[in-house]
Amino acid sequence: MDSNPFFTGGVGLALLGAAAGVARRVGAAGTMMARRHLLMTLEVTNKDPSFPWVLHWLTTQGHRSQHLSVNTTAFKRSDGSTGLRFDMMPGPGRHLIPYKNRWFWVERERQVNSVTLETGTPWEKVVMTTIGRDPTVFDHLLQDARTAALAKADGTDTLTIYTCWGADWKPFGHPRRKRPLTSVVLDDGIGERIMGDLQEWRHSAKWYYERGVPYRRGYLLHGPPGSGKTSYIYAIAGHLDYDICMLSLSEEGMSDDRLAHALSQAPQRSIILLEDVDAAFLHRSASASSRGRVTFSGLLNTLDGVTSSEERLIFMTTNFVERLDPALMRPGRVDVVEYIGAASTNQMRRLFAQFYPALPASSDLPDNFASQVDTAARSGVSMAALQGYLLLHKLRPEEAVAMAHDHFAQKERE
Ligand code: ADP
Repeated sequence: MDSNPFFTGGVGLALLGAAAGVARRVGAAGTMMARRHLLMTLEVTNKDPSFPWVLHWLTTQGHRSQHLSVNTTAFKRSDGSTGLRFDMMPGPGRHLIPYKNRWFWVERERQVNSVTLETGTPWEKVVMTTIGRDPTVFDHLLQDARTAALAKADGTDTLTIYTCWGADWKPFGHPRRKRPLTSVVLDDGIGERIMGDLQEWRHSAKWYYERGVPYRRGYLLHGPPGSGKTSYIYAIAGHLDYDICMLSLSEEGMSDDRLAHALSQAPQRSIILLEDVDAAFLHRSASASSRGRVTFSGLLNTLDGVTSSEERLIFMTTNFVERLDPALMRPGRVDVVEYIGAASTNQMRRLFAQFYPALPASSDLPDNFASQVDTAARSGVSMAALQGYLLLHKLRPEEAVAMAHDHFAQKERE
């Protein structure tokens, strides 16, 4: 049989086939071994809180992939119009992503025909694979993803105003663009006093919690309309990355119960803004509350009812401080009181300079403007009125100065 060339050829082929089969099995086992020992995998499903962070991380890496999906968000421009932002991120499928001197093999998988029970969104997962045996790599990646996603959320340039509808807080209109603190021109020292107190309070949470003292702070800003009370509170909220929950105590149907309920339900990281707080002092009797009015004791009970476990930052405004009862001005109810009045000469000058930033620092137009308004408006003028006037001459500072005396003298006579 040895001399039969067909037979020896057949044996050779069979041996070769067997060897290839063994090699294949060894190869597969080797790949398995390599996968098990040389590669690390992390699976993140959309049920996990870190899923949005990972998606955001993918957004920041997205430009490296040619196969993208888009996440569209609406935002508000400084002129009030709405714009759209498109964040590209690697779409469902496989992507090779370099990150911190490593390659990550990222597989984004979406199952169209199965949805999560909680949100009703398609079930999704991201599986990340990389070479190595030290899983802290993923730890670092998740930490980075979290930090970047939160920084992005904090760095947004809008704040949301909530108003109370029935028993719930609902966003009022579109998110507003944040207003810089410096754009609200207050008289000397006022802004510094409020912000100084606020920053100290924000840094002493531990002190309050350790002593079981309710971690709250109350501010009362009073003064005539149009002096910037509300604008300043909005600017503070933007500065601190807080939202605003706004309630007017003079509103129809605002009873003691509704007020107490609303405050207990207010979203986290928000400033409670109680406007026209004097309205509560017009109605002292409990029967007033049953008629849908906030009473004096209802307001005090609500302010005192903050439990020691929660954080509460309350701003109150009024045009009539003389109507308030001294009982409101106690620590824990109102801790800081500031008067925000009609425009001082200094504020007039600074508002003017802010309107025309191209003016040289040596220009005497701001001073001239302030002295024109001062002599014409003997009984004082509000910052809102000054802003309205300057808007009429927003490109012509000389004209704003030249016409100021006549304009404000006329208003004085009216
Ligand atoms: P208040 O709450 O005291 O009645 P607002 O904050 O509602 O006053 O101000 C009304 C308008 O006037 C806003 O458009 C605001 O921009 C402008 N304004 C009022 N005070 C100031 C100020 N001190 N600095 C800059 N703008 C102001």
